[in-house]
Amino acid sequence: MVRCPQCNISLLQDYDICPLCHCVTEELNEEQQEAIRMRYGNGAPYPNAQRRQRILRFWLRLILFSFMVSEAILIVINHYTTPQVYWSAITGGAFVYGYLFLLYWVSHDSGFALKVWLQMVTAMIILYVIDRYTGNYGWALQWAIPGVILFGDGIVFFLMMLNRSRWWSYTLLLLFLGVCSVGIISLDIATKKSNLILPIICVIVTVLYFFGTILLGERAVKRELKRRFHV
Ligand SMILES: [Zn+2]
Repeated sequence: MVRCPQCNISLLQDYDICPLCHCVTEELNEEQQEAIRMRYGNGAPYPNAQRRQRILRFWLRLILFSFMVSEAILIVINHYTTPQVYWSAITGGAFVYGYLFLLYWVSHDSGFALKVWLQMVTAMIILYVIDRYTGNYGWALQWAIPGVILFGDGIVFFLMMLNRSRWWSYTLLLLFLGVCSVGIISLDIATKKSNLILPIICVIVTVLYFFGTILLGERAVKRELKRRFHV
């Protein structure tokens, strides 16, 4: 039996993630479980949330597949009709954005962290694509995307302050930002970019911030990450 700290409900099945809000659940000890049984009896299992999830996942995969096929066809058309303009890259970007937008709406009732994550991924991709197809000057990887990541660090800090009782639920977002910042600086070095000031600041701030939260909230953070990744 587990409990969702966000929805304040108990679940008979040991879900790692709350089926209602996608928040990481807490395990209840024997005493608490007994108290709930005494009060509510054994109760009915949670209504088929897993089945609903499966159907949803199937449709999302189908849509993703059709987007990929459409884009592949467009790339071929592009290649054989107007090879001088890479317009298929723009349609590809639109497909990616459309799919992310769809994911966003499907899970619009889930946590705020997911929304922030989606917005940031979208912004990074759009910035990179614009740079790539407007002269490829490299400003996206050297300035704009590190800027987005630093901005994201700020948002995570704001969210943690705002939601102090569950501050550790934003560590996954922080981990994502950390991975991005390391990825960006690796790309910058690999492509011999000249200006690494902002990427370096970005890596230092994000990585220190992430390890700082692990040190401070050892148990809570460990549980959050463990259950998110099913390890
Ligand atoms: Zn919940």
